[in-house]
Amino acid sequence: MKHQTDIAIAQAKKLLHIREIAAKINVKEDDLEMYGKYKAKLPLHLIDETKVKENNLVLVTALTPTPAGEGKTTVSIGLTEGLNKIGKQATVVLREPSLGPVFGIKGGAAGGGYSQVVPMEDINLHFTGDFNAIEKANNLLSALIDNNLQSKTNNLNIDPRTILWKRVIDMNDRALRDVTIGLGGTANGIPRQDGFNITPASEVMAILCMASDLENLKERLGNIFIGFTFDKKPVFARDLKAENAMAILLKDAIKPNLVQTLEENPAIIHGGPFANIAQGTNTIIATKMGLSLSNYVVTEAGFGADLGAEKFLNIKSQFADLNPKCVVLVATIRALRHHGGALKDAYDTADLVKVKKGFANLEKHIENIRKFNIEPVVAINFFISDSEEEVNFLIESCAKLGVKAVLSKGWANGGEGTSDLAKAVVEVVETKATQYKPLYNWQSPIKDKIEIIAKEIYGADKVVYDNKALLNLKRIDRLGFNDFAVCMAKTQKSFSDNDKLIGRPKNFVITVREIEIAAGAQFVIPILGKMMRMPGLPSKPASENMFIDKNGVISGLS
Ligand code: ADP
Ligand code: MG
Repeated sequence: MKHQTDIAIAQAKKLLHIREIAAKINVKEDDLEMYGKYKAKLPLHLIDETKVKENNLVLVTALTPTPAGEGKTTVSIGLTEGLNKIGKQATVVLREPSLGPVFGIKGGAAGGGYSQVVPMEDINLHFTGDFNAIEKANNLLSALIDNNLQSKTNNLNIDPRTILWKRVIDMNDRALRDVTIGLGGTANGIPRQDGFNITPASEVMAILCMASDLENLKERLGNIFIGFTFDKKPVFARDLKAENAMAILLKDAIKPNLVQTLEENPAIIHGGPFANIAQGTNTIIATKMGLSLSNYVVTEAGFGADLGAEKFLNIKSQFADLNPKCVVLVATIRALRHHGGALKDAYDTADLVKVKKGFANLEKHIENIRKFNIEPVVAINFFISDSEEEVNFLIESCAKLGVKAVLSKGWANGGEGTSDLAKAVVEVVETKATQYKPLYNWQSPIKDKIEIIAKEIYGADKVVYDNKALLNLKRIDRLGFNDFAVCMAKTQKSFSDNDKLIGRPKNFVITVREIEIAAGAQFVIPILGKMMRMPGLPSKPASENMFIDKNGVISGLS
């Protein structure tokens, strides 16, 4: 059976005017800042902290994924349709896609099949310009730094060799990882080594996602740590008087974006840090906006639960005092086959033996979610290649652990296909939810926090530090940043820091190569194994299959 592409399904949908979507969550037209007919920004005054506490937050995460993604966004959207179908008022709150994956290997991030947010092309491409604003604010600071090095009258005496701040671009572009700038003589700046990260890894992105309002955003931007002067004094963005100008560039980006699902339910999309190299969830502002306007909020944290969900629970929820009441763990049979040792070209071939072996991966994620005092529900994101015996094995194995596993058919059927999942989630929210607890306290020492994550979540035996990381720890201590959260940069392909260790690896060591500082976001970023914060494109990038016709109609975007 030939299925319609995601983009064809999205393009066939006749969208409601955004004012009609807003009306469903009682937002007046007057409060909307419209970006055309189908997108609007929501003003921050709509956030109501009492409602944030009263309403129900559901987090969607997954087992350790294959490179194609296991369908968290698809399930998040499908579940939202299903909740609305069974009479709950639900909004999905997601991240904005990055152009890196769109043109690289993974594709867009607006869901799939009959569980999508629309207008799909806009959301996947420039959307309302938030990523551009973040990139510009980040690079304004870079320009100010280099200008200051050059300036005779306004010079802060910054030692160029200590500058940690990097430029960003929203593209997978490995050639920009290490660059030399300022060449060409005295008129062209002071030569120094620089580098680019991808925009979702920018500290400005992290700050936007952690900020509570414009004032707080400004304060955080001012706190960005840049490097040291020649006499070893720390330099912050506020020393360059950068925070107001940066905040001005972000004045619209701080407001969450409202769009719709294929079944005309509200979707709020805002912020887009990756979960492997950044904190992996949408903005605190967007989550609170959703909870202010809706009885149920379904939100997604990126990659496997060892990354996005760990950070969602230890960093975001702890900081913003959110209380997620249920965690939906997305599992696919193909990922279980992969964790059982199936090779890529056999992902779509039924193999009960491999699925049985691969279940160990999901089991570890289930154990991990329970450590946070939250009851997981497993959503089996159904693929047509799934056999009945594989699915039954999965349901029974989860039942043995006391976990409900429910087939989720939102990709094929939208909300019709997810009402069982919606009912299972409501049951957990209404009968099992208490107060979640984070795994570590921000106040404990950095090394302890790293160790808790590595041992409790990843299952590592121990953590070792390269020399550079040890020096970084001393610097963190000297700067007084010990009470920052820890935002791990780790491969999404394994519980460990080694891509190759699939399933549930045991007896392994985690290596911390270096530790970056994101002082404005209030976290440190241990870089594990070979992780890099600027991805590269695959040898055959997704861009090669894209097409735009003379009328501007796009195809091949997935
Ligand atoms: P994640 O958010 O976990 O990275 P996505 O929801 O973005 O994953 O899905 C990744 C890709 O898989 C999308 O292209 C989507 O269309 C496709 N997909 C998701 N669920 C299914 C399914 N049940 N059957 C077929 N394709 C699916
Ligand atoms: Mg996703």
